[in-house]
Amino acid sequence: MIINNVRLYQPAQAIQTQGLHAVEYQDGKITHIYDQPYEGQEDVIDGRGKVLAPAFNDSHMHLLRFGLLKKELDLTEVTSWAEMKELVENHYDKIQEYDWIFGKGFNDANFTDMDRLLTPEDLSEIHVNAYIYFMHQDGHECVISEKAMELLKKEKDFEKEPEEFKEKDEEGNWTGRFKDTAVHYIKHHFWGRSVEDAKEAIKCATPYLSEVGITSVHTDDINFIGSYDKLWHAYTELEQEGNLPIDVHLHHYIFNIDDLHKYLETNTKRTGDGTDQVRVGSVKIFLDGTQRLHTAAMRNPYPDNPNTHGTLIYDQDQLNEMVKVASENGMQVAMHAIGDRAVEQAVTALGQSEAHTAQLRHRIIHAQTLAPDLIKKLREVKPYIETQPSFLLSEWSEKDKWTPKELVPYCDAYESIRKEHIPMTLSSDLPIGSLDPLESMYAAVTRMDLDGKPEGGWMPQEKLTVDHAFQGFTNLPAELEYKDSEKGRLEAGYQADLVLLDQHPLEVEEDQLHNIQVCRTWHRGKQVYKK
Ligand SMILES: [Zn+2]
Repeated sequence: MIINNVRLYQPAQAIQTQGLHAVEYQDGKITHIYDQPYEGQEDVIDGRGKVLAPAFNDSHMHLLRFGLLKKELDLTEVTSWAEMKELVENHYDKIQEYDWIFGKGFNDANFTDMDRLLTPEDLSEIHVNAYIYFMHQDGHECVISEKAMELLKKEKDFEKEPEEFKEKDEEGNWTGRFKDTAVHYIKHHFWGRSVEDAKEAIKCATPYLSEVGITSVHTDDINFIGSYDKLWHAYTELEQEGNLPIDVHLHHYIFNIDDLHKYLETNTKRTGDGTDQVRVGSVKIFLDGTQRLHTAAMRNPYPDNPNTHGTLIYDQDQLNEMVKVASENGMQVAMHAIGDRAVEQAVTALGQSEAHTAQLRHRIIHAQTLAPDLIKKLREVKPYIETQPSFLLSEWSEKDKWTPKELVPYCDAYESIRKEHIPMTLSSDLPIGSLDPLESMYAAVTRMDLDGKPEGGWMPQEKLTVDHAFQGFTNLPAELEYKDSEKGRLEAGYQADLVLLDQHPLEVEEDQLHNIQVCRTWHRGKQVYKK
């Protein structure tokens, strides 16, 4: 097959080609790039002068959660408690017959009919005798019913979750609201879903990816189904049925070292192993929480809440041990670390010689607050940093609430990271950040929100070039899959994962980057989207 009459955009190549080309592919791989249009007639797709580029690889997201949002009760648009109740009652018709009621995406801080946050007592207005679990919009906080709290009190393992994540009243009793890893625990253990549920949800989600040109994802889904085995079955069955238009790296979330040992004992597959399309990803470890909840572990107190500087979930020895055991067993590690104290802990663990960071390409997700000493350490240890530029769209004006003034220039410091040759990818953290890679790239290149604010960009010295932003979604994530010589470039021998764009990214004004349209998407040579 040949895609004819296309211009090429090759973000990772120093020299950009001019004029019209043709790209030939066979059995899922690019076989030849012609320097001029192809003259033959058979098996030709006419690209009509549009721009062919490598398709996008999103290195950090929660695909199953996104799919379930599409399929299950979605509360993200709700603006009042009255409206939320109505939506729940409509979703669960004959609500008295349900034992469990789930919903996600609410944001009660913005409710127009309430000047406090939801409590278990409120939930009893929906159904007194049900187990109710509602997850907040950002996925890091939840509220549950009295009955669900009773169940949780009997869970021995829940006692191990940090007390800071279990909100308490003045008498020390649970308020019914939980945070961070306590939320993961609750959904992991109580919100059981079948392989069929997961397959349905993933099938709901993938057309949205193809539409924005994503053909590979690295996803952390286990808490939404409770079992890595089930997850593996869901994805590989979809692959066998021909219903998986993406390559997938499946992370394995662990709460502690026991979870890791259990995985290593019961599974023979290690990072990179698997089928053509479904591979074992990283061991995912949460080191801290989020800035909005003041649970991200900072080295300084939060300026808007000086009594706290967040929470580290593990001590250094515990983390060192997890990283060591994972590395010695051929598992890549991906650590969620938002605050500078958490980043410091991560880079210390990765700096152990037993971590083999250069070889296994371990990752730090977010790394939103840095400092000169941390950048120096990162340069020495060289883990991959996984950034989410679309967070900047809504967060740039909040930074000084969370970070001391002198450290604000080190927040989301993309260009400083890149300049030091610390490998860095761009990603969505779907469904928290924006799904559209072009929107994330717009944020990384302009450092403005979609209204063009602040003018000139927030901390403009940290803007990325268009080429560097594209590399963060193409060839660099392929390195995390150990597939640098097979994926993420427009070259013969590379996987035919391609997007056809209506404009050349180097020719549009930078503040128009997000308006470039994806016209077609190919995954392994198969067209999976056409506008
Ligand atoms: Zn995430």
